[in-house]
Amino acid sequence: MNSRESENQEIPGLAGVQAIPELLAWLRGISARQRLYIPADKGGNRIFEEFGLSDGPVLNQLQERTVLPVKKLFLPPSEILFDFSHEVIRPPAEPEDIVVFGLHVCELSADSLLTANMANDRPDFPYLSRRDRGLTIGVTCQRSPGCFCEKTGHDHVSPGSFDLFLDLGEPGRPRLLAGSDAGRELAAAAPFVLEEAAQEITAPPASNPERWPLESLPERIHDSFGAVMWDELAARCLGCGNCTIVCPLCYCFYTRDETELDPAMGRRLRLWDSCQLLAFARVAGGHNFREARSERIWYRFSHKFMRTQQTFGAPGCSGCGACFHFCPVGIDPRQVIAGVLEVTKKSYEE
Ligand code: SF4
Ligand code: SF4
Repeated sequence: MNSRESENQEIPGLAGVQAIPELLAWLRGISARQRLYIPADKGGNRIFEEFGLSDGPVLNQLQERTVLPVKKLFLPPSEILFDFSHEVIRPPAEPEDIVVFGLHVCELSADSLLTANMANDRPDFPYLSRRDRGLTIGVTCQRSPGCFCEKTGHDHVSPGSFDLFLDLGEPGRPRLLAGSDAGRELAAAAPFVLEEAAQEITAPPASNPERWPLESLPERIHDSFGAVMWDELAARCLGCGNCTIVCPLCYCFYTRDETELDPAMGRRLRLWDSCQLLAFARVAGGHNFREARSERIWYRFSHKFMRTQQTFGAPGCSGCGACFHFCPVGIDPRQVIAGVLEVTKKSYEE
């Protein structure tokens, strides 16, 4: 689809409003001042791409999830941590200010949780310095196939998780909500009346019968270690790492030094890694802490539903469904958690 076609189509929730050309004009104005990333079409998939570089922003398809989450902008797949030459270490240039438009509710939630994680304990300065320079504009989600945020509790917009939010909840009445001073400034030429984000949009749903028992999940995941279900999953899993690459809350990485002919000169790189790959937990001497694939799968789920839940009070899974969608053998977190609840049922429900 070219940009002309996408300008002429309507977004659900904007019905009856000639909003796409106006929305595009506003976004063009932002991109004239700073880098703007926006969902764009890439071979039939959605990706966040710099405005102006793609064939056309897919504003009429905002409800579809992107292939790679917004984390790729704040934690790039590959980055130089520093250059070195003899006695001198040079840090990379200061990051640029960027704006990202079109984040779904679960992605705003994941972005906040990933940032909390990166700021916790030993702050990750490369990530945080980029994140500090980024503004986010959320948009009401129309649900992608296979997503399940109602199960994980990442199904509402938290205060402080966005700079602006385009609320398309009521058909024909789009609202632009402010979440920060920087967002208010960004909204200056927007084709919508700016409103303050009210509690009605940021309040969590009172209760949701679909929600997983998040309080007891850490213990239940712990107790499920060694259960046959993990061997059954391991028999299907290819150990490819796709699930962690597309996950907005996974952040495993490794570092590598690249040197010139003179080994005292070069650079240190940080690259994405995956706890699902065999070599991830291999240490000097060849010992591997998680040689068995079943242990690696359990580890991934324990990180998300045990450690992250215990540390931050929310699971490290937003329920976006991307891992299931992009897993070559269709391993679905909903089935995994259902399995954990089943194998631990006796101790928790009797
Ligand atoms: S584990 Fe899967 S469903 Fe959960 S946040 Fe990561 S990619 Fe999304
Ligand atoms: S994407 Fe699927 S097959 Fe690949 S490592 Fe993840 S769970 Fe296993």
